[in-house]
Order: sequence, then C-alpha cells, then structure tokens
Amino acid sequence: MIELNDDKCMHCGACVGACPANAIYLNEVILDFNDDCTDCGLCVRACPVGALSLIRTRGIKIPA
Ligand code: SF4
Ligand code: SF4
Repeated sequence: MIELNDDKCMHCGACVGACPANAIYLNEVILDFNDDCTDCGLCVRACPVGALSLIRTRGIKIPA
C-alpha cells in the first residue's frame, strides 16, 4: 500500500500522471488512492519531494 506524507505533498500531480492504473485521485485538498493500486511504486519514484512511500504488508487477510 502507498502511504502519503501530507506535510510534504504540494499537490503537483506528478504521481497521478505516473500511475498506470489510474488509482490516484487528486484535487486541491485531497490526494487519495483507490483499490486499483497494484503497489507498482511508480508514483513513489515520480514524486519530487518524497511524499509517498510504498509499505510492504505481510500476512494479508483473505476476505471471507
Ligand atoms: S503504486 Fe503504482 S498503481 Fe499504486 S498508486 Fe502508485 S503508481 Fe498507481
Ligand atoms: S507527486 Fe508527490 S508532491 Fe506531487 S501530488 Fe503526488 S504526492 Fe504530492
């Protein structure tokens, strides 16, 4: 999953353009991710201020 550091983000939109899954929603006040995110990490590399991090999760819960 992707984690956003709100204090660093300047809403430039570079991550939105870099996302191949169209998984990032951005407006003047909100940056959010939807379930289409594949954890590819391209947005993390695209961010010029290091506001995004890719968090590796283990022990993923399988939906019932
Ligand atoms: S990790 Fe990949 S799929 Fe997920 S929001 Fe970033 S660029 Fe899009
Ligand atoms: S690329 Fe970085 S600074 Fe720009 S909108 Fe995305 S998270 Fe914010």
